[in-house]
Amino acid sequence: MSELYISFSSSQGKGTWILVRGDQIWLKDGNLPTGNKDVLPRFESDANAVKVGHWQGRPVWMIEWPDRNSDPEMGDFFSLRTLMESGDDALFQLAGRGVQLATFFRTHRFCGQCGARMRVVQDELATHCDHCQHRCYPRISPSMIVAVKKGKQLLLGHSPRHRAEVYSTLAGFTEPGESMEDTVRREVMEEVGLKVHNIRYISSQNWPFPHSMMVGFIADYHSGEIDIDFNELSDAQFFDVDALPLLPPHGTIARQLIDLAITEIRQQQ
Ligand SMILES: [Zn+2]
Repeated sequence: MSELYISFSSSQGKGTWILVRGDQIWLKDGNLPTGNKDVLPRFESDANAVKVGHWQGRPVWMIEWPDRNSDPEMGDFFSLRTLMESGDDALFQLAGRGVQLATFFRTHRFCGQCGARMRVVQDELATHCDHCQHRCYPRISPSMIVAVKKGKQLLLGHSPRHRAEVYSTLAGFTEPGESMEDTVRREVMEEVGLKVHNIRYISSQNWPFPHSMMVGFIADYHSGEIDIDFNELSDAQFFDVDALPLLPPHGTIARQLIDLAITEIRQQQ
């Protein structure tokens, strides 16, 4: 057993604790619990606490709550989405890391190549198979997200997955062999049948639902007529920046790209 894994029952470490249940995090008085393991609710588990980094000079430990159907006392579980919308970016980032790593360790206990049990590597975040030397790292899936401008208009789509009538930027996962710019061109063509150019990188956001890396761009419309892929979108339109629909919440990279594109369009007028 590696030193990255310590037995929960024998843990003497003080630090910040991420107690994960599915995609939820346990908070005490609105914060991640800090101290020794006594700050956590008592529970029976053979799970191990995993040291997943440092934060504000303290080690961060992650452990999974053993029973998805039972609730501990003295606190509540909060979904990652709730934490994101709370606007506490540091808490959201740390919680997202905990949930992603919990998922990784839970789904990589056995080797995908030979089926033997894997062990946690000591000096990096990875699992390793001593039988066939296969090594796995936490999966991060790059995907592009793009705001497309056309004159004083912005291209926005409505997805069946979106809440209510929210319209947002187009997004899609990168495929093997593609650059991020290739993904932008392909996804926009596939989803709405348009050709874009002047693709410019803006920023990125780790998106732990469940393990995406959203890479954000602004692009200009080049040519074509909107032809919606209804498997992906229920609607897509060019909206005048003075008559926009309901937009994604602040704190999302989609909203950041939309706000920046609106500013650029207004400056060009
Ligand atoms: Zn193996």
